[in-house]
Amino acid sequence: MTSYDYDLFVIGAGSGGVRAARVAAGMGARVAIAEEYRVGGTCVIRGCVPKKLLVYASKFHGLVEDARGYGWHIPQADFDWQTLIANKDREIDRLNAIYLRNLERSGVEVFQARAVLADRHNIKLADREETISAKHILVATGSRPFIPDIAGAEHVITSNEALQLEALPESIAIVGGGYIALEFATIFAGLGVQVSVLYRGPQILRGFDDDVREALAGELVKRGIDIRCNTEVTGVTPDRGGYVLDFRDGDSLHKQLVMYATGRVPNTLGLGLKKTGVELGWNGYVVVDEYSRSSVDNIFAIGDVTHRVNLTPVAIAEAMAFCETLFNDNPTPVDHEYIATAVFTEPEVGTIGMPEAEAREKCRSVDIYKSRFRPMFHTLSGRDEQMLMKLVVDGETDRVVGCHIVGPDAAEMVQIAAIPIRMGATKADFDATMALHPCAAEELVTMREKWQPAAES
Ligand code: NDP
Repeated sequence: MTSYDYDLFVIGAGSGGVRAARVAAGMGARVAIAEEYRVGGTCVIRGCVPKKLLVYASKFHGLVEDARGYGWHIPQADFDWQTLIANKDREIDRLNAIYLRNLERSGVEVFQARAVLADRHNIKLADREETISAKHILVATGSRPFIPDIAGAEHVITSNEALQLEALPESIAIVGGGYIALEFATIFAGLGVQVSVLYRGPQILRGFDDDVREALAGELVKRGIDIRCNTEVTGVTPDRGGYVLDFRDGDSLHKQLVMYATGRVPNTLGLGLKKTGVELGWNGYVVVDEYSRSSVDNIFAIGDVTHRVNLTPVAIAEAMAFCETLFNDNPTPVDHEYIATAVFTEPEVGTIGMPEAEAREKCRSVDIYKSRFRPMFHTLSGRDEQMLMKLVVDGETDRVVGCHIVGPDAAEMVQIAAIPIRMGATKADFDATMALHPCAAEELVTMREKWQPAAES
């Protein structure tokens, strides 16, 4: 029988890779993991965690304004970007150390070097000559920002650099209309930067419910963000200490900084996957089956590198299912249906299930319940902000197939609503639930009137 150095070698110590390595080691496997940058991956080091800390930082300005209506007079407050970044970095260092410690405690051998495949069982590390062998290999290398091939692409930053800027710019153009573009628009605008969002399509957040898209766009504009849809950037040129962005329609815009948030691509370049026979998809993603197995049967892949649903909790769920399948003799697929997700803008978006348009394609009849109202907090703050709550119901089965919220704490609400919705709760179940008063979420169980198009004013 062939003997290998390890039962499992994981390439990439992000959320998915770390979880798989630790759980597999806990199941008795001999496990090693390689990471070329810092343990923790995009989510911890340059994604969800630092982003959310910056989102928190960006809320204070608005809160100080809102406080006036409650009788507070807070004199002009100072904000210091360097302090925020230093404190954020300290927190990331702390998390990075915890991740490393947990791996070591689980008995996982950590190699802090780039790893590539020499063949289907052998791994070559950048810092040594000899190869390492493993019975199974898990590719969990995540993704990186994608910048389209425009003139002057070398002048633009991505979310990676945005989290490490030495100073706040006075103005920024953010290209893209998805999660990252809008979250960073919120961060910068909240910190006093003049923000323009340049999006190529007719409305931001393609793929989300249309009411959510419209409601969020309206609220972001009220908060001073300049959103320009149907705007295609053709080039970026340095000019007057900043940059000029040229648009396809001949127009242009000057900003101090330009950030691209135009999606992410899987990290498979130069990994040696293709020559090992691993099938890759259109943008380089690893093609896998429902058990995360690639076209080479001892090589698996999880997380963003598989380009299924690019979210941290999904990568972690895929890691757990992979370990069950491989090390516990219990083939476990991951259910990618009904995944709650949030866009951490101000106000927030929380969503699960089908947007109305998708439900109208998939269900024979659809009932819509929606409510727009001013959150109670803003009755005294005086802020002109509307909350949106929307339920999409399959008219034949009464099952709630979509829940979409724009407003304060939308992420928290949708995470909880995800439980009954995944379980198949009906609108009648929602209605039978007693409301909790006064809170915004009570709208979810008190909307009785089906929305009729004519009723919309
Ligand atoms: P998204 O896919 O969300 O958005 C990409 C945006 O860029 C879209 O508006 C897209 O337009 C636009 N775009 C794509 N290609 C081009 C191009 N060639 N020229 C101009 N515009 C272009 O990606 P993000 O980068 O915002 O985020 C990546 C992923 O990371 C997300 O999809 C999500 O899975 C994850 N993420 C999740 C977060 C969360 O859970 N809160 C936060 C951040 C990221 P169009 O719609 O027309 O294609």
